[in-house]
Amino acid sequence: MQLVCLDLEGVLVPEIWIEFSKRTGIPELRRTTRDEPDYDKLMKYRLAILAQHKLGLPDIQEVIAAMGPMAGARDFLDDLRQRFQVIILSDTFYEFAMPLMRQLGMPALFCHKLEADAGGTLVNYHLRMPDQKREAVKRFKELNFKTIAVGDSYNDTAMLGEAHAGILFHPPENVIREFPQFPVTLNYAELDSEIRKAGARI
Ligand SMILES: [Mg+2]
Repeated sequence: MQLVCLDLEGVLVPEIWIEFSKRTGIPELRRTTRDEPDYDKLMKYRLAILAQHKLGLPDIQEVIAAMGPMAGARDFLDDLRQRFQVIILSDTFYEFAMPLMRQLGMPALFCHKLEADAGGTLVNYHLRMPDQKREAVKRFKELNFKTIAVGDSYNDTAMLGEAHAGILFHPPENVIREFPQFPVTLNYAELDSEIRKAGARI
């Protein structure tokens, strides 16, 4: 049995923090791990900014729901799920992703969790485990699944390397340069064809 593991942001939906920052007009939320390499510091900073702007979980989810998935993502995914078991492996949080997952037909999603207080203010975050994308692929292999992994960015390359086949989707130039071993696809038609090829090979 073959399993396709898809990254979420940059593959099926926009980068959530970046798009959220645009839509709310809060530029501080554009800060990423490139600006602040300490992930814990970055997340505490983001949660503090949200609280400062009195944005609780329901407000945040409303903004995220309005983003919608990327054009063509739903059709691509529906078609892929006819042929493969598909699991989405993401470093986002269930509370953020859910409004978008509904628009994608509720595929299986493994990601992290946020903690809100009774008033809906986000007070903390909980990573399910470190390096979960790669660990998940490892475990699927132990369950005798042949895995094909797809991602767009640095945080996907360990998972792509662990899988039987790894494919980049719309990656930045530096990732293409540093990881020439992975085929590069730029749209869903190319990605679909590369997944078919990988499926026939592994
Ligand atoms: Mg991504």
